[in-house]
Amino acid sequence: MAWKQKRLGWVTIGVALGVTVAVLVTLGGPHQEQQPDPVSAGLPAPQRQPVVSGPVPEVPAPAEPRADWMRKLGPNEKPPQFVMFSFDGAASKEHWDRVLPITRQAKAHVTGLLSGVYMMSDDQGDDYTGPGHDRGFSSIGFGGTRQDITQRIEYLNDVIASGHEIGTHYNGHFCQGTEPSVGTWSTEQWNDEMDQFFSIVEKSRAKGFQLDPKNVRGGRTPCLEADWKAAFPAMKAHGLVYDTSHVSLGVTWPTVIDGVYEFPLPEVRVPALNRQAVMMDFNLWYALNGAKEEPEKAAEFTAVVVETYWSVYRAAFNGNRAPLTIGNHFNEWAGGAFSAAVEQFMGEVCVQKDTVCATYTEVIQWMQLQDPQILAQLRSFPAARN
Ligand SMILES: [Zn+2]
Repeated sequence: MAWKQKRLGWVTIGVALGVTVAVLVTLGGPHQEQQPDPVSAGLPAPQRQPVVSGPVPEVPAPAEPRADWMRKLGPNEKPPQFVMFSFDGAASKEHWDRVLPITRQAKAHVTGLLSGVYMMSDDQGDDYTGPGHDRGFSSIGFGGTRQDITQRIEYLNDVIASGHEIGTHYNGHFCQGTEPSVGTWSTEQWNDEMDQFFSIVEKSRAKGFQLDPKNVRGGRTPCLEADWKAAFPAMKAHGLVYDTSHVSLGVTWPTVIDGVYEFPLPEVRVPALNRQAVMMDFNLWYALNGAKEEPEKAAEFTAVVVETYWSVYRAAFNGNRAPLTIGNHFNEWAGGAFSAAVEQFMGEVCVQKDTVCATYTEVIQWMQLQDPQILAQLRSFPAARN
């Protein structure tokens, strides 16, 4: 208890947590296997596992000058509340044109998870063969005309130059039902997909794309699907250090699974519906009306989603301060309700006190500066539930 008060006196998430922390400290830390089951004692279960397995991957130190929050925490200091916005696909000028001014105003950095096929013009589709699929086939099509590609390189270069991160959403987006879907792929098939992603990046670089492949450090799998045991070795083999496709119950600190950082998407309560949903655009849409196009309900849906974001943010901010992962596609589903919600929330939340809207790499860089014991303690806290 003394250690907790000395190092993490800010934790005020209730008696239950205090008891959990005290138990962990008494036993010598969260890596201890034998812990009393708090559930049987009527207490919330701590976020116990997985914590860290495999070597902790490293990213380069942050560039100078550093932001004021990019430093080691002082005694009793709370972590900043990180909010990590990410956009699957990442190839929509219309959406970047709306998002970039918000990020400038709110001093936010975001992450675009690029689908490689969007960097290929339609007439080059035959250069891609999805693992197990026909040559020239992609579930999400290709990138349009050659002029579209030229324009895409230009605006993505602006995105990169503005300090945002580009990760990967892989290529052909083969979800369950389009077999062989990514959930069935072997390591060899994932390697093939990632080889093709990086070769598309190289071809785009020859046309002026400013993305350094070394800066592609992680991704999100299509529809959050994969056999992780098969996918993670391929991610590591391609230099990826994070994945952001798992789902956690509530907001939890990122863990390291088999040597890859995992930033899960939280499953949360949607207050207006009083039901649980994974906090991602499509999942929220499905929870709202079974993912039916009802553009006339756009304003209502936006309000429900923004309220959900705030409620989850407050739970994390007043709780474990775990980074909040907000995943979205660049889409106009339900009359653009979900894009409007994420844009509104970004503008509002990123300017809040003690709140930093950062990229995945920035949050990893911040974690690298912290005392490992503090990180272990943070990971042992119960998930923030709204
Ligand atoms: Zn997707």
